[in-house]
Amino acid sequence: MRIIFLGAPGAGKGTQAELISAQYGIPAISTGAIIREAIAKGTEMGLAAKAYTEKGMLAPDEVVIGIIKERLAKDDCKNGFILDGFPRTVVQAEELDKMGVDIDLVISIEVSDDDIVKRMSGRRVCGSCGSSYHVLYKPSKNGDQCEKCGSDLSIRADDKPEVVLDRLTVYHKMTEPLKDYYKSKGKCVEVEGQEILDDTSALVREQIAKAFGR
Ligand SMILES: [Zn+2]
Repeated sequence: MRIIFLGAPGAGKGTQAELISAQYGIPAISTGAIIREAIAKGTEMGLAAKAYTEKGMLAPDEVVIGIIKERLAKDDCKNGFILDGFPRTVVQAEELDKMGVDIDLVISIEVSDDDIVKRMSGRRVCGSCGSSYHVLYKPSKNGDQCEKCGSDLSIRADDKPEVVLDRLTVYHKMTEPLKDYYKSKGKCVEVEGQEILDDTSALVREQIAKAFGR
């Protein structure tokens, strides 16, 4: 069961990957998390990645691929895994193929840009205690103040609509060719992200059942 999750930032793919991981007992491998782990452990590839992330740059393909390779070689991946955040480009997908990693299923969680902007721009955080809220889904009982500590709530720079839209543009430009790559192999399915997390999970499970018969 080798699965890749695709989805725009804010589409909830990380959460879905975690749920499927728990249900089927295969690890959900988030590229961001394993890069941070490799850096913390100071592995050869981790040190290489550190040099880039310290400058605020994305680690180049050969480094990311090296880290993925280290991770997929571990025992817990022998019955399968979920990749979340990798591959990001067709070149990376081809590298996976070259490694002999045969992907069974690619699940792309589709959420419209408008809905993602609505979700992200509604988020509010408390600068003092770090509590998080959402104006629609999880409003603070104190309005614009934190219900735990009373401090003012604010919107993170990353969640501002114009910033979110910029990220989405980059995402689509990068990911469409990747989806086409897996579609041409008959491996990519699209799942419409739903307002309710569990509803999306049900659709994801449906696709997994269809592909793996369980
Ligand atoms: Zn607070």
